[in-house]
Amino acid sequence: MSPYRYRCGQCRASSPPTPTRADSEAHRDYHRATVHGGLVPDGEHIDRVTGHEARDPDTRYVSSRAALALLGFLALATVISRVLGR
Ligand SMILES: [Zn+2]
Repeated sequence: MSPYRYRCGQCRASSPPTPTRADSEAHRDYHRATVHGGLVPDGEHIDRVTGHEARDPDTRYVSSRAALALLGFLALATVISRVLGR
């Protein structure tokens, strides 16, 4: 069900999500041929992309969102304690 995505660890690049593994393999073959002269780059793999993370699955993006959520929670907690302390 999940779309697939080819990633090249050497170029730190990824293909757009594709509906089938074969489509990602086509991206892989094209990338190998055009960027790496037909050689196989280190660190390449085909990922399964899940849900809404498909546009930017970078884990740093996810953790910064978690940090923002924590900051929002702390701000809310500050407001609540101010109200209760009155
Ligand atoms: Zn590459």
